[in-house]
Amino acid sequence: MRLAKKRKSAGRAKGGSGSKGTVQCSRCGRMVPLDKAKKFTKSTSVVEPQIARELKQQGSYIQTRRVTSYYCVSCAVHSGKVHIRQADQRRPTAKR
Ligand SMILES: [Zn+2]
Repeated sequence: MRLAKKRKSAGRAKGGSGSKGTVQCSRCGRMVPLDKAKKFTKSTSVVEPQIARELKQQGSYIQTRRVTSYYCVSCAVHSGKVHIRQADQRRPTAKR
């Protein structure tokens, strides 16, 4: 049992609702609650960016696809996708 709670929300967006399912971390494979996981979407193309730019100038259509990846908090911090903020820079939360 965890006696001290670091965050009122435990880092999640659950509130009064129940389980929202889990996702697997794209980096380490850990199972993370969906409302706790960090979601990142980026659009990728098969064609290299430099060639893609030239082809676009010539007026051709280059297909891109959106790749969604989920990160656990540890991996999101370690890979620099999210940063640890100073206490005064954190989002104000309700009194614990
Ligand atoms: Zn991870």
